[in-house]
Amino acid sequence: MAEYSVAPLAKLIEQFERLPGIGHKTALRLAYHILRMPEAEAQKFSDAIMEAHSKIKYCSICCNLTDKDVCSICSDPCRDRSLVCVVEDPRDVMALERTHEYNALYHVLHGSLSPLNGVTADMIRIKELLARFKTDEIKEVIMATNPTVEGEATAMYISKLLKPFGVKVTRLAYGVPVGGDIEYADEVTLTKSLEGRKEI
Ligand SMILES: [Zn+2]
Repeated sequence: MAEYSVAPLAKLIEQFERLPGIGHKTALRLAYHILRMPEAEAQKFSDAIMEAHSKIKYCSICCNLTDKDVCSICSDPCRDRSLVCVVEDPRDVMALERTHEYNALYHVLHGSLSPLNGVTADMIRIKELLARFKTDEIKEVIMATNPTVEGEATAMYISKLLKPFGVKVTRLAYGVPVGGDIEYADEVTLTKSLEGRKEI
């Protein structure tokens, strides 16, 4: 246990242990790896963390991650502006973009409704979604939340809120296994899910 008596090292190990999916052994391995790095490399690593933190924010329209006020998808003039795909996480946008089949807009909720875990409607980006209906540009909203209990509940909740706007609300047809995440679905499955979407 000698290594833990070195306070800065113990601190570094502790920080790695806080990361998702990192156990104690991996945290140790990563911390030692950092120690062995040349100082310039370690500086680059630390700068990248700070730069990502300070420069990346939410797009003022779709809430996806961006380093600009409006993200590159929202500002792309070639995108179909009548269609908005609602997802839980920025990683779902990346998954859908990988299909190269979807050429419209997104809205990132940053979570799903989960009353049991204390996540209520005001804690995810629903208000920002509703604010996008000030013009009648949007004709269809695809609910692409995950096929989990929370994802389904979120899709139903939002579809009810959208009714007064008179837009068509559809749900992805899931080849994605129930309980699975869109993020991990392959391109073919996602493309089929998009094509087979049904009105809800
Ligand atoms: Zn955007």
